[in-house]
Amino acid sequence: MAKNTKHCSFCGRTEAQVDFFILGQDGAQICNECAVQAADIVKENSIKKSNIPNLQKDQLPKPIEIKEYLDQYVIGQEEAKKYLSVAVYNHYKRLMQERTSDDIEIEKSNIIMVGSTGTGKTLLAKTIAKKLHVPFCIVDATVLTEAGYVGEDIESILTRLLQVADYDVKAAERGIVFIDEIDKIARKSDNPSITRDVSGEGVQQGLLKLLEGAVVNVPPQGGRKHPDQKMIAVNTQNILFVCGGAFDGIEKKIASRLNTRVVGYTAAKENESVDKHNLLQYIAPQDLKSFGLIPEIIGRLPILTYLEPLDRSALRRILTEPKNSIIKQYTKLFDMDGVELTFEENVLEYIVDKAIEFKLGARGLRSITETIMMDEMYEMPSKNDKNLKVSLLYAQSKIERANINRLKTA
Ligand code: ADP
Repeated sequence: MAKNTKHCSFCGRTEAQVDFFILGQDGAQICNECAVQAADIVKENSIKKSNIPNLQKDQLPKPIEIKEYLDQYVIGQEEAKKYLSVAVYNHYKRLMQERTSDDIEIEKSNIIMVGSTGTGKTLLAKTIAKKLHVPFCIVDATVLTEAGYVGEDIESILTRLLQVADYDVKAAERGIVFIDEIDKIARKSDNPSITRDVSGEGVQQGLLKLLEGAVVNVPPQGGRKHPDQKMIAVNTQNILFVCGGAFDGIEKKIASRLNTRVVGYTAAKENESVDKHNLLQYIAPQDLKSFGLIPEIIGRLPILTYLEPLDRSALRRILTEPKNSIIKQYTKLFDMDGVELTFEENVLEYIVDKAIEFKLGARGLRSITETIMMDEMYEMPSKNDKNLKVSLLYAQSKIERANINRLKTA
């Protein structure tokens, strides 16, 4: 553009057509809109160039170390912890493998965890990601069934990962995605307990390529229709997918499989060793198939493990033992106001009893404690007391007056 003509040197628009110009040397000028676009281009290119250091082999924690870390945050679930530690270790080892001439390619070790809700599936996945310092996101498989445009939605799983990785594609490509409620996309025909109309099979098909590894075009801002939205290509080859689901009713499938298998002369012997109260420990890939997952999905989730139901003693331990246990969190909250918070021992037992009574599991521990502590949290900062001991009588009075239904939906 010639000097002094009031045109944007980039799009050619006149001053009247835009808000303002930014002037450069020798009469060059850029309009506000082109400047915004230019900034976007700079951002996108710096994403591509981002070069976060790769995890080095000597930095990769060994399975026992990973498990010990998990022990600090997650109570029980020994089997799941062990399986996860090994799978994650192998996954990141695979990432680091140098191309050698032996042609042995280590396959992806995506994981599926089966266990009742609130037993620690999400917590396990989250804690592992924290240990490895990799981007981590949680997506809910049920959302995928509800939207009409399945394909687009499935890609949006990776939008979350990109967002938590601050759009650092390289970092996202080594992250962990936790897909919760994977059981809700089970094929309906094989699973009478699912009542929704949307066929889960389409979603399962859509997930396949993501799980096994593909270059996927991801909308950086999610599914929303952005005319200017430039897709970001993400390779899922090294993303570890951890799926979790309650698979309500799968025990029946396990039981019937075990029964058919034990028919015959080995029946008596095998039957003896079956623990009928915890059938999940016998879970096998064919049970997932009977539940309604398609074989291709099962094949791409080669590590299958289960979580134990949390009994009374596990709940009691969860209340105080994990590094960031609920009681430790409240103690810290009060401590920040200069107040030393303590509980009578039987208050802790009482909280556990109520969680069991209301069938709230581990999640209930927090809502019950919150209900007990609410008034004190409200009043204490304005008082001058330096100590607070919560007695059983006090806890009981707070819970009895609380709206139990509110607790139940917590
Ligand atoms: P899930 O994913 O199996 O439904 P979550 O991992 O979300 O369950 O657990 C819900 C909450 O309950 C966690 O944030 C944690 O506070 C507590 N919790 C559940 N299981 C455990 C456990 N095994 N050890 C410690 N805390 C647990």
